[in-house]
Amino acid sequence: MLFDSHAHYDDERFNEDRDIVLKSVYESGVGYVLNAASDVASIDSTLELSEKYDFVYAAIGIHPHNVEKAETGVLDRIAELSKRPKVVAIGEIGLDYYYDFSPRELQKKWLIMQIGLAKDLKLPIIVHNRDSHQDILDIVKSENAKKTGGVFHMFSGSVEMAEILLDNNFYISVGGVVTFNNAKKIVDVVKAVPPDRLLVETDCPYMTPVPFRGRRNDSTYMINTVRKIAEIKGMEVERIIEITTKNAKDLFNIK
Ligand SMILES: [Zn+2]
Repeated sequence: MLFDSHAHYDDERFNEDRDIVLKSVYESGVGYVLNAASDVASIDSTLELSEKYDFVYAAIGIHPHNVEKAETGVLDRIAELSKRPKVVAIGEIGLDYYYDFSPRELQKKWLIMQIGLAKDLKLPIIVHNRDSHQDILDIVKSENAKKTGGVFHMFSGSVEMAEILLDNNFYISVGGVVTFNNAKKIVDVVKAVPPDRLLVETDCPYMTPVPFRGRRNDSTYMINTVRKIAEIKGMEVERIIEITTKNAKDLFNIK
């Protein structure tokens, strides 16, 4: 069974048919979905989904886009809600210097606070990183994020960066980008990272893999990403499914 390690099924683009989509996802062989929250409202909707569906788990945290609108009191709330059995990670958290929706200093402050929270709670972190490679590596090191580990979702860095992250107790998550015709960096990363440190994800409704680019993404399309990884690695598709699911279950402590 597949494990989609990063999805946003609470997104409004699923408002019309969320239940139908999730049913088809499960029936297609995706046995686990981690839904990642991004702001205060989506923490609630993520928890709701994880309570409604056995196979949906929750990551709760504040995305760098939204830190400017968040109040630090939410950290206490995240700590409290993290006691719920389906909450398996803090996320998504990180830095985004591509969009710069929140001031960079504030993004860094929130990342540091949420890494601290995750260490206190002994939960792994789900990290979003766009055009902020150096600052994020500096923070991973200075905050000793190695202690709690986690995953860099939709990884966009170099092989060199991936190797530093592997040394710091992180997994590398691969999404639909690896199937794109112009994909180069992530293909090299998939070649270099040992299978037992790879996760797969959709980041749906975004990042739909080839040959479905342009459509709304969901986890039924993730098999295309897995097939591409298998091709790059020269391994059986079944084996990639088995290993990446085991990796995710280990990381998120799911029995
Ligand atoms: Zn995401």
